[in-house]
Amino acid sequence: MKKVGLYLFTNDLRINDNTLLHRASQLVDDLLCVAIEPKLSTYSVRLSQEQEIGAHRHLFIKQAIDDLALSLARLGQRLFVLDQNTNENLVQIIKTQHVTHVFVSSHCAHDERELVKDTLTQCPDLLISQQHHTTLFESDMFPFELAKLPRSFTKFRLQVERLEIEIKESVITYLPPLPQTATDSYREPILELDDSITGDYVGGETAALTHLENYFSHDYAGTYKQTRNALDGIENSTKFSPWLALGCVSPKTIYRHLKQFEAHRGANDSTYWIYFELLWREYFYWKCLTLGTSRFGRESSDLSNEQLLDTTAGSSFAKWKSGNTNYPIVDACMRQLNATGYMSNRGRQLVASCLIYELDIDWRHGAAYFESQLIDYDVASNWGNWAYIAGTLNPQAPQNANKQCVTHQSQSKSRHFDLVKQTEMYDPEHTFIKKWHREDEASASIRYQDVI
Ligand code: FAD
Repeated sequence: MKKVGLYLFTNDLRINDNTLLHRASQLVDDLLCVAIEPKLSTYSVRLSQEQEIGAHRHLFIKQAIDDLALSLARLGQRLFVLDQNTNENLVQIIKTQHVTHVFVSSHCAHDERELVKDTLTQCPDLLISQQHHTTLFESDMFPFELAKLPRSFTKFRLQVERLEIEIKESVITYLPPLPQTATDSYREPILELDDSITGDYVGGETAALTHLENYFSHDYAGTYKQTRNALDGIENSTKFSPWLALGCVSPKTIYRHLKQFEAHRGANDSTYWIYFELLWREYFYWKCLTLGTSRFGRESSDLSNEQLLDTTAGSSFAKWKSGNTNYPIVDACMRQLNATGYMSNRGRQLVASCLIYELDIDWRHGAAYFESQLIDYDVASNWGNWAYIAGTLNPQAPQNANKQCVTHQSQSKSRHFDLVKQTEMYDPEHTFIKKWHREDEASASIRYQDVI
């Protein structure tokens, strides 16, 4: 019997360092390549009060899918695109194309895992191959069981940072052909470019690899630790996150480049610190996997009415989103996010702290808004970092997220940032604030004085 494979691209929109795609190319006679376009879940729509993914994130995803389609076309393949939450479509394709094998990246998030489970329930004879290939490690490399994942990042780091990471380069030069029965009835990616949306970041594996080469061809990595906290500046932190989030580049490829940089130009605190930050990403990934829905402060996708914002909080939330809180540093960061789809790590910490501790709004609303806007939105890093700042990183009582939030907030004062001090440290001349309050520089400085 013919082996018909279906490769489902989710958070791994790449050809290189894609061991699962390589396995598919070796195993099946025919292959269908399908990508799922992310959408905001109902839960995130309600929390963020946004109907859909923001323009910058949307464009970045489209570009990434388009780039993947081009790479597949070079290998004689085609890419079909499905909307998220459409496992019926997926099941339909599997049935009509007589798919025998499905290859799909393992995912740390609940909904994506459910999609695979549902598909398997409806097509019980299907052989599914999965692998965590958007991480540095596989769980069986850990010196602990996943169920006993260390509660703190430091404990996790100390146990994993010396593990050997396999960094051999894998390039795919052959893919099996499309099944002859596959017709034009599936949608190929259509890039609807809106000329008014431009940015520093272009989605896709091609742009990711160019950025990676460019970053390591300079000395930026050698001074990363000193510059990484800057609020602005393309060279001040690596800016790998947008491409990592969609899997346009793998963390192993980044790690390989980092090791090459160290071999040629020398290792130092800064080069180690890039690895250190990648370990934070890793930690949040495995944490998200072990927590299931409680990572999001929910037990089901329903959010009862009483958990939504009242009128006053709703108005504060709207002002926070649009960058009109009257905390100048926060407003500047939020305007940067809305105008570009990106915000520095320092900025994210400050705006999150402001939402939770100054405006007294449930952290999940902020996390959901970030989900809608960030071009580097990554389920584990986003909800993990928000939970960390809110003091709910290790939720005890997932059945009541609001109470949980209150209990933990009191334990996490260290994540409550002093916005005035932070402004003095990271924007002493108000260069960043003025840049994003350009339309009214004078009043920006007046408002800043008002706050201090
Ligand atoms: P660099 O400083 O150059 O770091 C190198 C890489 O390490 C990053 O690309 C990223 O993959 C990883 N990394 C760095 N810091 C963290 C961190 N705190 N947590 C997890 N991984 C990290 N990161 C995302 O990728 N997606 C998100 O949706 C996201 N949401 C966040 C929400 C909040 C409230 C906060 C405080 C942080 C969030 N982060 C998120 C983490 C961090 O802000 C970004 O990864 C970082 O700013 C990306 O820029 P960079 O690539 O230049 O990072």
